[in-house]
Amino acid sequence: MDKSVLVIGAGVAGITTSLELANSGVQVVLVEKSPGLGGAVASYCCKATDQCNKCSVCVANQKMEELWSAPNLSLFTNSVIQKLARSDGGFHITVTHKPSYVDDDKCIRCQLCTEKCPTTPSSIFLPPPHSSLQSYVIDTDRCLHFQGKKCNLCQEVCPAGAVDLSQKEREENFQVGAIVVATGFSPFDPTRKKRYGYGAYPDVITALELEEQLRIEGKLSRPSDGNQPKQIAFIQCFGSRDAHVGNNYCSRVCCTYTMRLANLLKFKHPDSSVTIFYMDIQTFGKEFEQFYQQCRQKITFIRDMPSLIQQDGNNKLLITYQDRKEGQVVRSNFDLAVLSVGLCPGEDTAKLVELLGLQTNEHGFFKSLSPLQTNETEAEGIFLAGTCQGPRDISESIAHSIGAAEKALAYLGAE
Ligand SMILES: Cc1cc2nc3c(=O)[nH]c(=O)nc-3n(C[C@H](O)[C@H](O)[C@H](O)COP(=O)(O)OP(=O)(O)OC[C@H]3O[C@@H](n4cnc5c(N)ncnc54)[C@H](O)[C@@H]3O)c2cc1C
Ligand code: SF4
Ligand code: SF4
Ligand code: SF4
Repeated sequence: MDKSVLVIGAGVAGITTSLELANSGVQVVLVEKSPGLGGAVASYCCKATDQCNKCSVCVANQKMEELWSAPNLSLFTNSVIQKLARSDGGFHITVTHKPSYVDDDKCIRCQLCTEKCPTTPSSIFLPPPHSSLQSYVIDTDRCLHFQGKKCNLCQEVCPAGAVDLSQKEREENFQVGAIVVATGFSPFDPTRKKRYGYGAYPDVITALELEEQLRIEGKLSRPSDGNQPKQIAFIQCFGSRDAHVGNNYCSRVCCTYTMRLANLLKFKHPDSSVTIFYMDIQTFGKEFEQFYQQCRQKITFIRDMPSLIQQDGNNKLLITYQDRKEGQVVRSNFDLAVLSVGLCPGEDTAKLVELLGLQTNEHGFFKSLSPLQTNETEAEGIFLAGTCQGPRDISESIAHSIGAAEKALAYLGAE
């Protein structure tokens, strides 16, 4: 059998599986649909205060760095699996590569194209994790040129002649012995719960947007006026444990990431007050229970899911909830509301289920062979890694992905 593996998705799960396999001497083809590496984690911040708070983001970043020097690995970003057929006990695969429209050998990384591009954000950019080994790329969904408008500013200003808007897609074929699916999750779409004002009020943001702002800017400011918010609210279980939106499961990571973020905000902005609205706190692990108890000293916890967020004439958010002790409905003022969005099945799951001959479970994630065999699937030679199979944090995703690599190695007889 062909001792090579196709890994689909280069989030922390796909990267971990690829490193494990490649370091064991197996040829790996790692295919990532976006221009950058790292999946969701690429936009997360470090949550250390005067001490490390064990969010594992740096562990994932370290794995991204290791990928650049891994042996036996072919990495294709901006690429998707077009066709797949079983053949000779393995799989024949056709991958389509979208061009980057920038010749990396010529590009001198002067950033001029990014600065001059008229779209916001710029459609030509260096994708995460911003390693010197990454190349500039154009996002054709945003770029005016590819939306049929007249623009070639980046090509004009580039001093190195590196931008080439005429590049075309190309296809490549591979033969592999096994496949590991690591296509991750999609965050819950906050516009589905209209009563919370996401999209209508600029100061209602998601935890993903908060992570990104803290990573890039290192501090928090309100989208509406750039001021530092003094009263911050987090709304837990946003799109999780909620039968109304069809997600009747716990996302496992939101309580922990929220508490680390809330703790970080109190550390960076001690004069601000932070309130967490919750149903009940799921603290997975003994150490986290201690951290939770420490957080209770400086953060206000209110046990109720607010029913409504509105904005008043003074640019303040009004959050309506029920005070359970007093048994009455309360409306409180906040400067910023953060929706702790849950983990939903990845957006390509249905497409891949059809292409690979897999199934989904009752929550829409990829179905594993059994509750105890979470890497294996009913399809021979196809394995699962990370959150594509169900909600997991980074360290759980890493452990699961090492399991997927071990199963693939055993299947190929390459242990
Ligand atoms: C707001 C928020 C904050 C969080 N903070 C923390 C934290 O501080 N600590 C922690 O431990 N966990 C945290 N988590 C959980 C963490 O995001 C996940 O554990 C982690 O991202 C899982 O990695 P993954 O590789 O399984 O999935 P993803 O990160 O989703 O990566 C999947 C990759 O697959 C690619 N892909 C998808 N479809 C295809 C396709 N068809 N072809 C090719 N590639 C494809 C995607 O582009 C992506 O790069 C947080 C989650 C959220 C929502
Ligand atoms: S990224 Fe997370 S685990 Fe790493 S140092 Fe910061 S707080 Fe600690
Ligand atoms: S063609 Fe125009 S819109 Fe597109 S990346 Fe270049 S400058 Fe930006
Ligand atoms: S302007 Fe040209 S050389 Fe400068 S970063 Fe952009 S593509 Fe590279």
